[in-house]
Amino acid sequence: MREIDTDYLVVGAGASAMAFVDVLLAQTDARVVMVDRRHRPGGHWLDAYPFVRLHQPSAYYGVPSRRLGHDRIDEAGGNRGWYERAASDEICDYYAQVLEQDFLASGRVRFLPMSEYRGADSEGHHAASLLTGAETTIRARRLVDATYVQSEIPSQRRPAYAVDPGVQVIPPNHLVHLGGAPDGFTVIGAGKTAMDTCCWLLEAGVDPERIRWIRARDPWLFDRAFMQPLELVGSFMQLQARWLEAAADAVDGDDFAERLEASGVFVRIDPAVEPRSWRGATISVGEIDALRSISRVERGGYVRRIGRHSLVLSRDDVVTELPTTPGEVYVDCTAPGVRATAAHPVFSGDRILLQYVTVGLVPWSAATIGYVEATRDDDQEKNRLCPVLTFEDDVAGALRTAYAGMSGLAARGTQRDIGAWTEACRLNPAAGASSHVDDLDVAGALTSMATSFGPAMANLARRGADRTSPT
Ligand SMILES: Cc1cc2nc3c(=O)[nH]c(=O)nc-3n(C[C@H](O)[C@H](O)[C@H](O)COP(=O)(O)OP(=O)(O)OC[C@H]3O[C@@H](n4cnc5c(N)ncnc54)[C@H](O)[C@@H]3O)c2cc1C
Repeated sequence: MREIDTDYLVVGAGASAMAFVDVLLAQTDARVVMVDRRHRPGGHWLDAYPFVRLHQPSAYYGVPSRRLGHDRIDEAGGNRGWYERAASDEICDYYAQVLEQDFLASGRVRFLPMSEYRGADSEGHHAASLLTGAETTIRARRLVDATYVQSEIPSQRRPAYAVDPGVQVIPPNHLVHLGGAPDGFTVIGAGKTAMDTCCWLLEAGVDPERIRWIRARDPWLFDRAFMQPLELVGSFMQLQARWLEAAADAVDGDDFAERLEASGVFVRIDPAVEPRSWRGATISVGEIDALRSISRVERGGYVRRIGRHSLVLSRDDVVTELPTTPGEVYVDCTAPGVRATAAHPVFSGDRILLQYVTVGLVPWSAATIGYVEATRDDDQEKNRLCPVLTFEDDVAGALRTAYAGMSGLAARGTQRDIGAWTEACRLNPAAGASSHVDDLDVAGALTSMATSFGPAMANLARRGADRTSPT
């Protein structure tokens, strides 16, 4: 049995782990062991559907020390005028380079791929090779769990509904291998994966009439126009200003979302349907227009069974049966992607649990936690600087999410070193805003934010958003 002594044992080698370790290497002289059951770093991106792209610009995804992509603004296609967004191949290659050229080359990181973390006992932590069964015991000063906010994706799980023999249910990954035109496509799910799938089918020339979309709950989405960094950072600053303005007056999560819609930050797919969920996904107005061309939207509930001639949905004991044909292809997009989590302290003794400490941005959250870990000693202080945000999948929880995000910004904002690090960190979408104050959007946003921040915090606390989620 192999034995390793190290400072940090990091379980997982997805986006969370990679950003955390990158900051640790830059800010400390710690040694790190990373364990992942997958064969390479990159986490869920290694198994993503081939037409997936980041929902946000590459400019603020990845790790702080290495640029992802070229910070270029696209000149053609649906993303024209906005910063480039990496596809999954590029993301996976990027993480491989970070691991090999930066982490391993530093001589301070060891990576155990294809290894399952099995827990700890008095001897240390245990990881077992999924190829040989050989066990490694790792004695570490701290355990970093980088698996808690991990993504659940369709290609890695079975659908929760019954499927009769002979019915073709596939994850979106398999669409590129169909090899023949089916009777039609039924896309199941209401999240970003389903939207990506519908957009891809439409772009590939599938007639909207041949797409049926089972969408039990509509989501609120960020308009990508507001997610632009660098030379277009005024857009992101405007997002923050409008967010605080909405938070200063909102009476509940629905009202908050509607205020954000009125100011252009949030969008919905169907103007006639009130969205019920919010998980922080981003979309462009062009994609929304394309999705609106699909008229066969079924809202009768969640899929329970797919047969060769009928499809059964139900909600609140109301069952709906839809006719179908044996030649239909069902694209399962029901995995949650970003799964709902409960908030736990990030720092507790010798354990660090990586979670969201910024709204919806996994790498920036993990990097922020890494910086706080590297520069502070006391767990209580570290947790004060890193209040946890949760995405509960229900817009009702949006005020809590907003409150936690703003509390973190306020707590970290009082710390000069963290402020300087944040301003310079490429994972921060607002990085460099202070050098764009001649941009009217930036200047206007800064003035508005200074006015709205206090009233927003007070209003959210009055509405109970300072209380922990009931999950
Ligand atoms: C389609 C899609 C698009 C997205 N786009 C964006 C975006 O644009 N911007 C954004 O910020 N977020 C986006 N997200 C959210 C996404 O979840 C994060 O960006 C990020 O990739 C999640 O990284 P992670 O490391 O937390 O989880 P994962 O990528 O799931 O990695 C967790 C790792 O832990 C390993 N692991 C788990 N348990 C064990 C164990 N017991 N032993 C060993 N290894 C273990 C897994 O093998 C995995 O590699 C997107 C998500 C999806 C699904």
